[in-house]
Amino acid sequence: MPEVGFEEKRTSAFVAEMLGRLGFEVATGIAGTGVVGTLKGKHSGPGVGVRADMDALSHTVGGELRNIHSCGHDAHMTMVLGLAKVAASRKVEKGVLKLIFQPGEETLFGARKMIEHGVIDDIDHLLGIHLRPAQEAGLGQATPALYHGSSYHLEATLTGVSAHGARPHLGVNVIDAAAAVVNAINAIRIDPTVPHSAKVTRLIAGGGANNIIPDKAELALDLRCQTNPLMRELIDKVTRAVESAAFTVGAKASVTIKGGVVAAEYSDDMIDLAREAIVAVLGEQGLLVPIVTPGADDFHFYAQHKPALKAGFVGLGSRLLPGLHHPEMGFDHAAMQDGIGILSRMVERLVGYGIPPA
Ligand SMILES: [Zn+2]
Ligand SMILES: [Zn+2]
Repeated sequence: MPEVGFEEKRTSAFVAEMLGRLGFEVATGIAGTGVVGTLKGKHSGPGVGVRADMDALSHTVGGELRNIHSCGHDAHMTMVLGLAKVAASRKVEKGVLKLIFQPGEETLFGARKMIEHGVIDDIDHLLGIHLRPAQEAGLGQATPALYHGSSYHLEATLTGVSAHGARPHLGVNVIDAAAAVVNAINAIRIDPTVPHSAKVTRLIAGGGANNIIPDKAELALDLRCQTNPLMRELIDKVTRAVESAAFTVGAKASVTIKGGVVAAEYSDDMIDLAREAIVAVLGEQGLLVPIVTPGADDFHFYAQHKPALKAGFVGLGSRLLPGLHHPEMGFDHAAMQDGIGILSRMVERLVGYGIPPA
């Protein structure tokens, strides 16, 4: 039942019903369609969260708009519900297990809204999982750390002075300013050992008669970086490049950050835990090295908001083809058993189960 961000109504009702049936304490309507299921242990202990994203994507197929789970979030929910079943039947020994079903991942606002509603306030560890495309991981393989990058979207407005094309010295041509800005951005240098890029992706200027010196330009900028400190440096240098390059021809510039997502920051403990769980479930041959991926996930806002939170994120191979966000995306459903096993093992190591496996 694919539904797009913040419209996951049927999905949310289904998840809540399943969790309730398994004996979880269920909270619904968080950030609209978010659901949290809680299972308390007999003894005091850590707060362990497991996050599943819920939204699908809207695709145009044969001229029609269709919602499709092309990012595999249906698989993530299925795996976390599978984990719910294991944890409910084997009983949590200590602490609290909190299953967090988050809306609107693709909008990049879902995690931040769940944070505003306090879902991680009582959580010490947070796990996430995402299917990987076949090019990154095969069926029966998983990575203990999936390093998503940071991406930010900026807009710049350049203001010059309009004039007659015959008297350019009386005006300030914003297209000259924009050309200087593009060159200045392309000349930015940051640590080359960290993958990054900054580029102008839209330029709108002029558009009136061809003998008018234009006085307004708008630019869109796409920034990518694998670490958060370097992304801050990049945003800083891009802002300075735009302002000072515009200044060289006498134009004014203003830069605004329109949106973005932070890069992955994981706890070493959680990576070790994931590594152990992957080997236990898939064997040594199933354990991949950490993967650096140019994609993004709003999961990383949780640890950004709460630096004490120990976060970990498993990337799961599933014979996924042709790729994520492709309308014909498909994967081998057997992978979900692997995912349930890995999540369940990690949770067991943190909160313990009271009853041995059946
Ligand atoms: Zn996606
Ligand atoms: Zn996704």
